[in-house]
Amino acid sequence: MKAKKHSRLERLNTTNNQLIIAGYRADQIIAIAGSSPCYIYARDEIVERVTTLRQQLPPAIKLHYAIKANPMPAVVQCLAGLVDGLDVASHGELTLALATSVRPDNISFAGPGKKSAELMAAVVSGVVINVESPLELARINDIASGLNQRAKVALRVNPDFELKTAGMKMGGGPKQFGIDAEQIPAIFADWPGAVDFVGLHIFSGSQNLKPEALIEAHDKTFELAARLSAAAPTPPLHINIGGGLGIPYFPGEPTLETTQIMANLQRLLDELPPAIADSECVMELGRYLVGEAGYYLCTVTDIKQSRGQTYVVTDGGLHHHLSNSGNFGQVLRKNYPVVACGCVESSAATEPVELVGPLCTPLDIVGAKMTLGPLEVGDHVAVLQSGAYGASASPQGFLGHPSVVELLL
Ligand SMILES: *Cc1c(COP(=O)(O)O)cnc(C)c1O
Repeated sequence: MKAKKHSRLERLNTTNNQLIIAGYRADQIIAIAGSSPCYIYARDEIVERVTTLRQQLPPAIKLHYAIKANPMPAVVQCLAGLVDGLDVASHGELTLALATSVRPDNISFAGPGKKSAELMAAVVSGVVINVESPLELARINDIASGLNQRAKVALRVNPDFELKTAGMKMGGGPKQFGIDAEQIPAIFADWPGAVDFVGLHIFSGSQNLKPEALIEAHDKTFELAARLSAAAPTPPLHINIGGGLGIPYFPGEPTLETTQIMANLQRLLDELPPAIADSECVMELGRYLVGEAGYYLCTVTDIKQSRGQTYVVTDGGLHHHLSNSGNFGQVLRKNYPVVACGCVESSAATEPVELVGPLCTPLDIVGAKMTLGPLEVGDHVAVLQSGAYGASASPQGFLGHPSVVELLL
């Protein structure tokens, strides 16, 4: 039986069956990068994704980019011009965000266990701190009083529900993220003097492709936000409803259908309960904005047979692209979509090959049992869906190969 075509392959840009990214062929991109492998992020695809999403989103919803998905400075600068705010999760990401045109009050800083130096930087620069624990709130208050300055904080809530079928659950049950919803009223009742309450941040999960699950999470998020806000010291200026919109990585996964999700968000905004009637609503997304616009390009360096199996060895592997190798949170390894750049649509009935990397570990799989166009040494292959959690989420020091070049074109 022939495997069903990956949904991403229907939307690829090709000329004469060659992959085109940002107007260039793979060999041209590698020439521009100066080396193989490389990551290429297509500006036109990022712009198109954000523009399309903006047309679908209710106009009142603000869109933030979560930098950890792809912190390449050029990508962050590109997105800063397209979105309403940035979400950061470390001091390094904070300084990247502050280097853009985004105003500090549209930058939010989340993450457990923020160090005192990180909190100090956040208070002094005036960004919103998403507080992850009661102790962290007390520490922020001490820092702000010591500086004779006010801190802006949003409480990150660990909701009393979870996002069903999310790729990665980040809320519900005991969690290292946020403050349990049931602890929030006591915090409001004893609100510290040097901090301003500006909002709530309710993030329940990531990488979701099921509209029903996202709709249910949004319903519960607004309900929880209203319930908690009734006891807040001041009404929240903003409610961050998290993100969770996923992209198709594996065979059989659909492209997320957003129509019903957006209609439901509009309904929720039309019916905002009094406690949050004047709050601004923020959606924060990482991979949905950049994931499909990124490609990991590598070059075939060897082709060999081993007991009936063809191995195609490339110069790219898990040291640059851990998530593609199946070692970044997946339980069972599945293939990302991969294409032969010079022969995207392969008509010949080619035998499945094992596409592997150069590392001395059997974990270094680029694509298992892949049916690709004919490949020779020197040809290029592209791993699709590689714009998020790629270079920065990979063990680049492992085995001492050069670090990967990243381009935005
Ligand atoms: C990681 C993260 C995101 C981004 O998740 P994606 O799946 O890349 O959209 C958004 N918000 C918070 C708080 C995160 O930690």
